[in-house]
Amino acid sequence: ITAIMDGSQSDFQHCVGLEDHQKFLLAAAVEERLPVLSLAGVPLHLYWAPLDGGDVMVVGRFREAYSLEERALLRAMGRSIQLSTQMLAALKAEQEAKDLAIREATIDALTGLPNRRYLLDHLGAGLDSSSGGRLQIGLLFIDLDRFKHLNDVYGHSIGDAYLQAVGVALGQFHDADTFVARLAGDEFIVVVSSANIGILTDLADKILQCLKQPFNIRGRVLHYSASIGVALAEPGDRPQDLLDKADMAMYSVKQLLPGGYACFEPYMLDQARRKADLESEIRSALLQDEVIAFFQPIISSLHGGVVGFEALARWLHPRRGLLTPKDFIEVAEDAGLLRDLDARILRDACCRFSGWQSVQKGFNPRLSINISAATLQDPTLIERVKESLVSSGLKARNLLLEVTESSLVKNVERAQHNILSLKKMGVKLAVDDFGTGYSSLRYLRQFPVSMLKIDRSFVSGLGQSYDDKVIVETILRMAASLGIQVVAEGVETEEQRQILSRMGCEFLQGYLLGQPLDSPMSDQLLARSERRRKWLRQPIV
Ligand code: C2E
Ligand code: MG
Ligand code: MG
Repeated sequence: ITAIMDGSQSDFQHCVGLEDHQKFLLAAAVEERLPVLSLAGVPLHLYWAPLDGGDVMVVGRFREAYSLEERALLRAMGRSIQLSTQMLAALKAEQEAKDLAIREATIDALTGLPNRRYLLDHLGAGLDSSSGGRLQIGLLFIDLDRFKHLNDVYGHSIGDAYLQAVGVALGQFHDADTFVARLAGDEFIVVVSSANIGILTDLADKILQCLKQPFNIRGRVLHYSASIGVALAEPGDRPQDLLDKADMAMYSVKQLLPGGYACFEPYMLDQARRKADLESEIRSALLQDEVIAFFQPIISSLHGGVVGFEALARWLHPRRGLLTPKDFIEVAEDAGLLRDLDARILRDACCRFSGWQSVQKGFNPRLSINISAATLQDPTLIERVKESLVSSGLKARNLLLEVTESSLVKNVERAQHNILSLKKMGVKLAVDDFGTGYSSLRYLRQFPVSMLKIDRSFVSGLGQSYDDKVIVETILRMAASLGIQVVAEGVETEEQRQILSRMGCEFLQGYLLGQPLDSPMSDQLLARSERRRKWLRQPIV
């Protein structure tokens, strides 16, 4: 019988070959350090060998006590046992710490799935050992749709719980051939070791179906979807190459048809490169003042005079010439540069506009500036508007900020403060492209909207489409009853102008009445305004 005691451990539960009551007796004997006790009528001689650090080893032998030499030997033996147990414990603790460090470095804490680093190792090993046979390593890049919206609406804790639930759902696809990881944020990756395009797209379909199901998160039923990019490894691909290809394919899905999947095609690589080039060009263009405001007149349908201008961003590109927003605004938005662009146009437009205005005495047209959703929520917006007003001398009541319906409605809470402050300052709010988004009466009442701009798509149908006529009439009637002014955008023909005037649309904007130009007032326009003004003898609003 041998046991090493560390003071607290005074029972013999682990001694093999003893009955419970015998263990109890032994424990009692050890407690009192008895040299001998009787077990089943046979004397048991005990020896407590003192070890290092206050530990004691107990050994027992039936019938005969230990001699002096035996005791010395037992003590030495005990010490070496003690040493090896200590070493074992230290080794075990070290191993546990190592395991934990590896786990922390390779497992995503939120979902428990392998993280980016583990994924890259796994992909690297897979690509290294790939034999180049018929089946290849393939990858699905899964990006949740509207995850930002979910976080904004329900808060981050629901957002996290949703990511965990998605992790569990995707974890079901994990098997010997399929590896599931979380890359970052709302991006998940599925690696299939031996795949072809058919296998990958079947799996993409299954995953899309699975993620389209409603998720019950803390009593809320969430209906969201995901978009998937599919890529198959080609010879020479490194892990990041494969991830990039699937990412580009995913991006093309997001652009065209969120909620579906697309396979990587080489043209996507060219597109992504062009986009990256354009992005860095826009950055420097904004710094070098290559982006400036052009001005398109807004005309009164009553007297034909100019009542205001809309500032529209133009890029004077050193090689490609004059670029309009369709050439760069999407890339600027993806790169998070819209706030910078809006700030630049606000400053430039106010400054140049007031210069021209002061030349034309008594002429007080309004200036409309487009602002993005990002700008509408920007905490520095109010300061910047104030600065622009002061430095340009433009009156707050002559400044209108145009926002699209969606950026107004989607960001209500964050934009609330800015909207109210603008109203206090006297700066007006216009809803741009009206009719293409929510067109809800509720938000028109909720926000201090002074003006609606009927989208060009309805104006262009006037004279041809009965539906468009009804839509425009309805908007005009609704706006009149809410006391909101209306501008019809994209007036291109005389027929459209006449129909709109007959319908009572007060303000018109379009190529028929004036192109966006570098200078707000062409001589011709000014002369026309002056003539009308004198003739009508009424001030321009
Ligand atoms: P928007 O604010 O609805 O501006 C009207 C657009 O219609 C302008 O396009 C204008 O040139 C064009 N347009 C005006 N009259 C006619 C017409 O008779 N026919 C046709 N086909 N088009 C007409 P542009 O300048 O290319 O701007 C496009 C959009 O880019 C703007 O639509 C606005 O949403 C955005 N944008 C322009 N400048 C800025 C800016 O500084 N900041 C932000 N955030 N967005 C801007
Ligand atoms: Mg506009
Ligand atoms: Mg518009």
